[in-house]
Amino acid sequence: MNKIIFVSNRLPVTIQRKKSQLSIESSSGGLITALSSFERMQQKIWIGWPGIISRKNKGENEIIRKELKKLDYKPVFLYKSHIDDYYYGFCNETIWPLFHYFAQYAVYEKRFWESYKNVNHLFCKSVLEVVDKNDYIWIHDYHLMLLPNLIRDKIPEAKIGFFLHIPFPSSEIFRLMPWCTEIIEGILGADIIGFHTFDYVRHFAESVRRILGLEHTLGQITVGGRAVRVDSFPMGIDYNKFADASMNEDVIHRIKSLRKDIGVKDKVILSIDRLDYTKGIPQRLEAYDYFLEKYPKYKQRVIFIVIAVPSRTEVEHYKKLKENVEILVGKINGKYGTIGWTPVSYLYRSFDFLDLVSLYSIADVLFITPLRDGMNLVAKEYVATKKNGKGVLILGEMAGTAKELGEAIIINPNDLENSAKSLKNALEMSETEQVRRMKSMQRRLRRYDVRKWSNDFMERFDQIKDIQYMSKSKDLSHNNINTLLSDYHKAENRLLLLDYDGTLMPFHNDPTQVMPDKELVILLKSLNNIKNNHIIIVSGRDKATLDDWIGKLCKGIVAEHGVWIKNRKWNLIDNLESEWKNELRPMLEVFVDRTPGSLLEEKEFSLVWHYRKVDPSLAIVRVGELKYILTHATANQNIGVLEGNKVIEVKNTAINKGRA
Ligand code: UDP
Repeated sequence: MNKIIFVSNRLPVTIQRKKSQLSIESSSGGLITALSSFERMQQKIWIGWPGIISRKNKGENEIIRKELKKLDYKPVFLYKSHIDDYYYGFCNETIWPLFHYFAQYAVYEKRFWESYKNVNHLFCKSVLEVVDKNDYIWIHDYHLMLLPNLIRDKIPEAKIGFFLHIPFPSSEIFRLMPWCTEIIEGILGADIIGFHTFDYVRHFAESVRRILGLEHTLGQITVGGRAVRVDSFPMGIDYNKFADASMNEDVIHRIKSLRKDIGVKDKVILSIDRLDYTKGIPQRLEAYDYFLEKYPKYKQRVIFIVIAVPSRTEVEHYKKLKENVEILVGKINGKYGTIGWTPVSYLYRSFDFLDLVSLYSIADVLFITPLRDGMNLVAKEYVATKKNGKGVLILGEMAGTAKELGEAIIINPNDLENSAKSLKNALEMSETEQVRRMKSMQRRLRRYDVRKWSNDFMERFDQIKDIQYMSKSKDLSHNNINTLLSDYHKAENRLLLLDYDGTLMPFHNDPTQVMPDKELVILLKSLNNIKNNHIIIVSGRDKATLDDWIGKLCKGIVAEHGVWIKNRKWNLIDNLESEWKNELRPMLEVFVDRTPGSLLEEKEFSLVWHYRKVDPSLAIVRVGELKYILTHATANQNIGVLEGNKVIEVKNTAINKGRA
């Protein structure tokens, strides 16, 4: 029976030193529920950092290792330099800002990058210690983007999944990172790569194409002969846990007491986020300020509870943000507040599950407007908690969740005017309308909960492994190779027809640079030296080049896709016409001028437009246009348009390699 190995930066526990004792505190969260839902897996292991900065004290690490083993957790021990350079450095000061489009905050520090690589190697070592053949390895998030390929290097047939929980930015942003190639290659070590939204899938596929030149079709990329699936899986929540909790006795009690504190008549607007610059908290406060100014009738009738959970408090941008938020809160309270009414209730701390559910329950409006957010689970949790359907969600369009929750009031967080208006609309929305929208969102979230999310990912994981297996079975099997060799040895005469580009020599950006290397020269010479071997190279290239490169090595050559056949001397296959070239050449020349990086090759009986070096997105457009134009221009003639590997060739239709 195979097992599943979850790998994430943090384990779902925190180990702390309290005086001289160690304490373990468990956390709950979506991923734990996801993992527990894999009933078919006999064994589950979670690998990650236990949240304590290790000391050079083997004894302590051993105690932690033993304790965590009881929970099926395997710790990766990290030291102070790792936390400074890998975690606070590369993860939080390079990847986080860049992937959230705060490129101006991103720091590119070699020391951070080296530490990131080191830590990914530590995780790899840890995985290799426990992985068996057929185990599933599911790696999570931006801390471990090099890990898939590190494992792949060691175990080529491993089953590796990767899920990114933050946005994947546009390729224009991603390419600002000096190590973007290594990161893309790292992720592509996985068999299946998941993102929250289709936009992130698109951005990733585009980066792969621009950086590595690999094309994608229907969410599949072929990496070194291996099919890799890239797809979107919007992460769900533990729906029932939130829906049921709203009926919990303790929650009902807390709701009553909160209501009493706030004032029974006041409407409650709520926002909950980690205090992070991506969450758009200052913009939200400004929108609320403008709302009170523009719609003064709401003064003394509404309260905005702003919960900011402390986060990355060591990082300078977070310190500045905290100051800024506190100034804004003070400004609004000073401007509009009265002795009996505080417009903003700002709470800088975190709350436990029951408190959160109570807050969701009393909130008439949840106001969540990140400038960029991979998903945003708070929005989903709020919807799940609203059992009676009463409540309004205002959601910023830059949150991944906005793609799923179209019934929310969707706004642009930078649009102050519309944000203020949306607050008014939300507070004035009829109950029937609230319930209609809420129920529709609830149906979706109930169906695609966190269990469904993880099972869906695993199903696609199996599918791509099947596809890989099926495409592999088309390769020469051991048996086929043996039969082939035995037939070869038995044969009195042997004809070997060998293709050149992409077969004997790899493709190259500059097609003139693919002359035979030493290894190929030796191979062809030795094949030729064997009695009764007849070697024929069949190529699309022109005859002069082929003569120059392999004329001395092989007697038989087919050139220009079958226009010319050489058997000691060159012969034309038919009486072919070439006047058509004069008509089509100018059209192709226009394309060369309009498409930087492309070139026109002229052979005796064909014209070839090469676009290997063209920007891939432009190439797609130009190929479409050119094919359209050529198909019309060549209608009613014996001229055909052939699409090859980054080339479009126009030639006489009577010509083909098979006929030759
Ligand atoms: N959360 C919590 N206590 C708090 C505030 C938030 O436990 O005081 C939880 C919340 O229930 C949610 C998560 O933290 O599950 C935040 O996830 P989200 O996707 O909204 O934002 P992230 O922090 O991952 O950027």
